[in-house]
Amino acid sequence: MMTRSDIKAALAAGHAAAMAVDGGQNADYIPFLASVPSDLLGIAVVTASGETHTMGDAGYGFAIESISKVFTLALVLERIGAEAVREKIGADPTGLPFNSVMALELHNGKPLSPLVNAGAIASASLAPGDSADASWDAILDMQSRFAGRPIQLSATVNKSEQETNFHNRAIAWLLYSAGSCFCDPVKAVDVYTRQCSTLVTAEDLAVMGATLAAGGVNPRTGEQVIKPEHTAPILAEMMMEGLYTASGDWAYTVGLPAKSGVGGGIMAVVPGVMGIAAFSPPLDTAGNSVRGQAAVAAVAKSLGYNLFTNPLQA
Ligand code: GLU
Repeated sequence: MMTRSDIKAALAAGHAAAMAVDGGQNADYIPFLASVPSDLLGIAVVTASGETHTMGDAGYGFAIESISKVFTLALVLERIGAEAVREKIGADPTGLPFNSVMALELHNGKPLSPLVNAGAIASASLAPGDSADASWDAILDMQSRFAGRPIQLSATVNKSEQETNFHNRAIAWLLYSAGSCFCDPVKAVDVYTRQCSTLVTAEDLAVMGATLAAGGVNPRTGEQVIKPEHTAPILAEMMMEGLYTASGDWAYTVGLPAKSGVGGGIMAVVPGVMGIAAFSPPLDTAGNSVRGQAAVAAVAKSLGYNLFTNPLQA
C-alpha cells in the first residue's frame, strides 16, 4: 500500500537523481526556449484520486511543446474514433527524429505516429472546427479539461514559433500532397504551432497524466474528459513514440508511457495509479529533458512502478 510518505520519499529520490546529472542544452531552434533559465527543476506527482505532491519549481509555467500532441490526439480520438486515427495517421514508431521528412518519404506520406510533428499536424487537421480559431478553441479546451484549469496561450512563445516554423510548414504541405492533411495545410500548421505554445507547469502535467491514469476522469474536477476506451491507445502511442528516438530506451529502462517536449517537460503515466511529471529545460541530443527523465525514472523506481514487471512478484 503506497502511503503519502512513500510518495514524499520518491519525490526526494527524484530530485536527488535529477541533481546528480548534468549537461544538455535548452532547445534553441525556437528562440523563446533558449531564454528560459536552465537551472529550473520542478517535479510533481498527482494520484488518480487527486492527491498532489510537488517539489522545486513545479509551479513554473513553461511551453508545453510536443506534450500537446497527446491532448490533440485525445480530441481527435473523441471525434473520429481509434480505428480511423490508426487508419489515417498510424500507430507505429518512426525510428527517426520528431520532425523527420525522411520518415514521411519512407512511408508514402503517412506519418505513422500522432506524436511526431507530421502526425501531430495531421491530428490538428482532424480537430473539429472549420476555421483555425474554432479548431484552436477545441484544442485549448481539451488541454484545459485535462489540466482542470484554464490553460492559456503564451503570445510570446507563439510569436517565436510562428516566426520560425518553416520546417513544420513544409511538413504540412508534404502531408497535404500525400493526402494525409485533412484541411488547409496553412490552417493545420497554424493550429499545431499554437497548441505547442501554451504554458503549463509540472503540476499541470501531473494532473493531465493522472487524468489518463484514471481512465479519462480528471481527479480534480471529476469530469470524464475522454471516453475510458480512448486512454489505452493514447498510452500505447506514448510508449512507442513519447520520447523521440529514445522511446525504446525509455521503455526498456523505465517501462512507463511518457511524453516529453522540447520545452523541458515530461509527463509519465502509471495506469490506474498516478501521473508523474517533471520540468527542466536542458535537453539531450534526442530532445528529452536530461534532469526531467532522471527525476521521473527515479520517482517511478522508488515507488516500484514499471508496467513490464510482474505485479504478483513485486
Ligand atoms: N513546436 C515544436 C516543433 O514543432 C515542438 C517540438 C517538440 O516539442 O518536440 O518543432
